[in-house]
Amino acid sequence: MSFPTPGPDTTVAVVGAGTMGAGIAEVAARAGHDVRLHDAAPGAAARGAEAVRRRLARDVERGRASAVEAAAVGDRLQSVEGIEQLAGCGVVVEAVVEDLAVKRALFADLERVCGPAALLATNTSSISITRVAAGLDRPQRVIGLHFFNPAARMRLVEVVRGEDTESDVVDAATELARAWGKTPVRCTSTPGFVVNRVARPFYGEAQRLVEERVADPATIDAVLREAGGFPMGPFELTDLVGQDVNLAVSRSVWEQTFHDPRYAPTVLQQRLVDAGRLGRKTGRGFYAYGADGRPVDAAPRTEPRRLAPARVGLTSRDGADGFDVMRPFLERITKAGVDVVAHEASDEDDDFEVVGIGLPGGATLLETYGPAASECWGGGAAVVLLDWAHDATTCTRVALQPSADCPDESLTAAVGLCQAAGAAVSVVGESPGGIVARTVAMLVNEAVELVTRGEASAEDVDVAMLLGTGYPSGPLEWGDREGVEVPFILERLHEAFPSGRYRVSPTFARLEAAGLRLREL
Ligand code: NAD
Repeated sequence: MSFPTPGPDTTVAVVGAGTMGAGIAEVAARAGHDVRLHDAAPGAAARGAEAVRRRLARDVERGRASAVEAAAVGDRLQSVEGIEQLAGCGVVVEAVVEDLAVKRALFADLERVCGPAALLATNTSSISITRVAAGLDRPQRVIGLHFFNPAARMRLVEVVRGEDTESDVVDAATELARAWGKTPVRCTSTPGFVVNRVARPFYGEAQRLVEERVADPATIDAVLREAGGFPMGPFELTDLVGQDVNLAVSRSVWEQTFHDPRYAPTVLQQRLVDAGRLGRKTGRGFYAYGADGRPVDAAPRTEPRRLAPARVGLTSRDGADGFDVMRPFLERITKAGVDVVAHEASDEDDDFEVVGIGLPGGATLLETYGPAASECWGGGAAVVLLDWAHDATTCTRVALQPSADCPDESLTAAVGLCQAAGAAVSVVGESPGGIVARTVAMLVNEAVELVTRGEASAEDVDVAMLLGTGYPSGPLEWGDREGVEVPFILERLHEAFPSGRYRVSPTFARLEAAGLRLREL
């Protein structure tokens, strides 16, 4: 059956008038629909509608809407106590508790109350759309419309297709989201959909880095923010959302993928939840919070001021100098007045393998390319690894990873060089890929796998991550920038931790052989 896009004259029902339901009702009413907001708890629908009206009044106060517009939106929103009053609605968006049995019982009622032509959407963040629709007379018209919190402000909506959802319904829901001023991305009902799936390693790798004692949470947060360009670090973010909520999402994706080690939650986070350290809401999570709500122990490990050497040698081979992603950072060091003298290897110079900055004391400073510091060049070389930055021209912090036998003099000089370039420096323990490159490699791998399996398009994955998480780049765009180093870092991680978590998507090799970028997947 063909499913027309519901126009503004379609009455929209929103069921569940909590945080998300009230926000979604507001979005639909602002887009010109008559909206009926219903909740099972007596009085909750009226309270939800009242919350929307308060937001509208605030908009008027701040000059963001005229009183006439706000009144018109408010008039279109009606709270209803009985589910039977949803008869005649052409679109239903369900936003009740995250419980499959509750949702299935509700959808059976909705199928009975609303006509056969109504589009039935669920805002579930983790339950399979296929399971919500299973057992209904017409599962073809059930779809996921996954809004993000706060629904009125966040532009992204994931349009999630269940196993039986008809493509006309997908098209209608996509157009509807667009008409509501949102940016829709489409995906299958895969565990975690796009955002909650691709973002898993952002939290999981950070927690593993703490478990491996590479760095403490405050340092990892600062490095991912100030070098990685992420708007928040994974520990401060999960403290904000709630460790229990974040663990539940991780656990749900892991269970729905039959315990794939790629999604395994960490013992570290489980211990925190067991202890009731759920984050800001309990006053303590990875950080402790003071009476003013600010974390009291969030200082990252930062090196004291060191002197930069006046002159260093840039060792290179065939024009390659071991700085690719971080080349602009090298330029910052030069601009700071450090004399970086290039040394070109000659053809006869067969043993010349070292590429990077030769440091006083004998070690070499080079960009993270895969192995942990002590494993570089087959092991045993004294090196300091410079972790990636999203924007090496402006980053305000970098992480340095010295090898076990790196002389103090060399590390001190490396710190001084980075500080001369204007960046704070965190010295961290050893890990393949360090902090930023390891995290980015895992995000890229996850995105590549999702697209390879046909769960979402490359473009939609990048858009979803940009809008849903605020990452500084979409993961596929980021992967295209870094090139072959992403699979190389993953291979080193896989060697170090052969659990299957770090298995490299075979798609990297296929695309490279075909000369294609990740975004051309
Ligand atoms: P909430 O607890 O704020 O609100 C849920 C509401 O549903 C409550 O008012 C409750 O009374 C009502 N309800 C429960 N059973 C009902 C039923 N059978 N019929 C009618 N109403 C019923 O929850 P929320 O945070 O708004 O989440 C709602 C849904 O949205 C969940 O599926 C959740 O996974 C999803 N979601 C939440 C967020 C978020 O950040 N909170 C983001 C995206 C999606």
